[in-house]
Amino acid sequence: MKIKKKFNIITLIIIAVTVSTQYAFYHLAMRWFEGKTALILCLVSCISLAVIALLFIRSYVTKKIVLPLKNIHADSLSMITEISKGNFNNKIAVKTGDEIEELADNFNKMVSVLQGRAAMLKEASEKEQHVIRALAMLAEMMGFITSEVKFESILQTFLEMTRSLLKVEHSGIFIFEGESKELKLFKTTIKSNAPASLDCANAMLTGPLGEAIKTSSALRINEVTAEFPSGHPAVKNFIALPLFSSNNKMSALLITVNKNGGFTPDDEDTLFNFAFQAFQALVLHEEIARLAVTDGLTGLNNHRAFQEKLSEEINRAERYFKLFSLIMLDIDHFKSFNDTYGHQTGDRALKAISKIIRDELRTVDFPARYGGEEFIIILPETECEGAVIVAERIRNAVAEHPFTSEGGERLLLTISSGVACYPDAAASKEDLIKKADQALYLAKDRGRNTVCTYQDTIAEAIKEIPEEIDGILKDPELKDIEKIAKGIDSKSHYTKGHSIEVAAYAVMLGKYLHLEQPQMESLRIAGILHDLGNIGIPEHILNKPGQLTQEEKSIIQGHPGLAEMVLIKYPLIETILPAILYHHERFDGKGYPLGLKGGEIPLLARLLSIVEAYQAMISPRPQRRRKTKEEAVAELRKGAGSQFDPEIANAFIKLLEERNAGSEQ
Ligand code: GH3
Ligand code: MG
Ligand code: MG
Repeated sequence: MKIKKKFNIITLIIIAVTVSTQYAFYHLAMRWFEGKTALILCLVSCISLAVIALLFIRSYVTKKIVLPLKNIHADSLSMITEISKGNFNNKIAVKTGDEIEELADNFNKMVSVLQGRAAMLKEASEKEQHVIRALAMLAEMMGFITSEVKFESILQTFLEMTRSLLKVEHSGIFIFEGESKELKLFKTTIKSNAPASLDCANAMLTGPLGEAIKTSSALRINEVTAEFPSGHPAVKNFIALPLFSSNNKMSALLITVNKNGGFTPDDEDTLFNFAFQAFQALVLHEEIARLAVTDGLTGLNNHRAFQEKLSEEINRAERYFKLFSLIMLDIDHFKSFNDTYGHQTGDRALKAISKIIRDELRTVDFPARYGGEEFIIILPETECEGAVIVAERIRNAVAEHPFTSEGGERLLLTISSGVACYPDAAASKEDLIKKADQALYLAKDRGRNTVCTYQDTIAEAIKEIPEEIDGILKDPELKDIEKIAKGIDSKSHYTKGHSIEVAAYAVMLGKYLHLEQPQMESLRIAGILHDLGNIGIPEHILNKPGQLTQEEKSIIQGHPGLAEMVLIKYPLIETILPAILYHHERFDGKGYPLGLKGGEIPLLARLLSIVEAYQAMISPRPQRRRKTKEEAVAELRKGAGSQFDPEIANAFIKLLEERNAGSEQ
């Protein structure tokens, strides 16, 4: 009952009781006492009744209003404390059946409403936290993508991130390439000794996973009942999310597996928001990385990619004692093909030859476009014989390929190839390329449409050593060394006397620098033999008037190496070889064959290089006019510190000036 109503009734009862009691008392007092006393008695009884009524009302108000309100006050205080701790379960238990209970109920209702709002806020904040986490991970992923080159390690990080984003046990991804959606890669976060093969991955794609790809819709399964083979991690629940790149070059199916309590639609959203953007960046990165190593016209690897791969292959071969081969291919007479049929036909031929090369190789081989119409192939773990077979196969396929002109005319093209094998032909990158190039040059020299190996170039060089020189070289004391020099110089009428003169200048300079006797002797022999490699250089190059082509230059640059090949079989030559081998190194490290620098170059080679340059400058050569002695000295001065050892060059200049002054006198 409402308080007001109760009060009205109680008031009426009190008034009725008071009035009737007072009336009865008045009549009794009037009967037993006299007028004045009766009146006083009446007044006293009236006051007493009023006091009793007031006391009654007070106790009633205290019991029915004040105490319940106190309860509400106490309960609400403890409720506030609990709410501040996130506990909404406390209620005010006041059962008065009146407005005070309603007041308490209102408090309880308010708490329920607060509880609902708090739950909503919590949910919203959790969602926000997920979004913030996904964004933070996305930012981290982007950072990683820009700092890492390898696609597979980016993919691994991506998977680990999806795993930690949703707090799942495992993540995995199937990568499909192109519009055909061929499975290219499968990766998981499961640490296993034997990673799943593509066949195994393809088998997994039957059933619902395959369906998810076909329908391009995400799959969220929270109750997986399938039996799994032993060793295979059991799948309790998973999300499978198809991902597509905007350029259609790549697509993927991302799966996250086993989350405590199962996956919610929010998990699906969070995963999608992160994975979609990260995948786009990943594909873009892969595309940029691919373009950076691909030749635009032929689609083969470009020169840079080849250089990197060759370094990698040499490191691998060194570490694991493996061998590999290099094939350098060059289209024959391509300039005249271009001139006759036009550049566009030439470009189409380049593409067709690139395709032939690709088709003839294993997937582990590495073909690249080395230059304009030159290709190069790395064949890992392939011996020279195997590389020659591959080169022959490509040569045949090109020779038989029906190239066509713009007008549909059938055209023929051939290629020449040079094969060099690591580590037989060379142990360094530059040297190996050079040796393949020399073999290629020999193939051109032998009439083109041919495959030659570096071994063939050695055989060729040795064949050209005149018998007389061969005999002298075999003499253990190399007594008749001048005869060898004559033999070498006789290869070209331009170099007649060169070796002897170089040796003479070298000895002169050696004396001037106070070298010791054994060094002087080595210097003399090195001076005489320094161009022994010329024996392997075709005469038409040695005698060619005018500019040399790049290929001809590289053949000439190979001559200290040829000397090594020829001399290595003979006794007593170890002391002289370094001087011969490195006399074309430059003081600034830009020389050949190794690019040695400063003091790394053997002293005798540094010395020989100066006197050889001087002698060559003052002698007639087919490619240029002879320099005067003054011009030659000026050149030496100019080259001191860059091409030449400055101290030795200055000493030689001083020696020449002293000699000139002496002869003038
Ligand atoms: P050789 O048999 O001695 O190799 O003769 P060649 O004419 O092939 O050799 P050369 O090095 O003199 O000429 C190479 C030619 O290759 C020059 C150029 O016209 C052509 N070439 C280089 N790059 C391209 C290209 O990208 N497209 C086309 N169409 N031709 C190219
Ligand atoms: Mg060429
Ligand atoms: Mg060519």
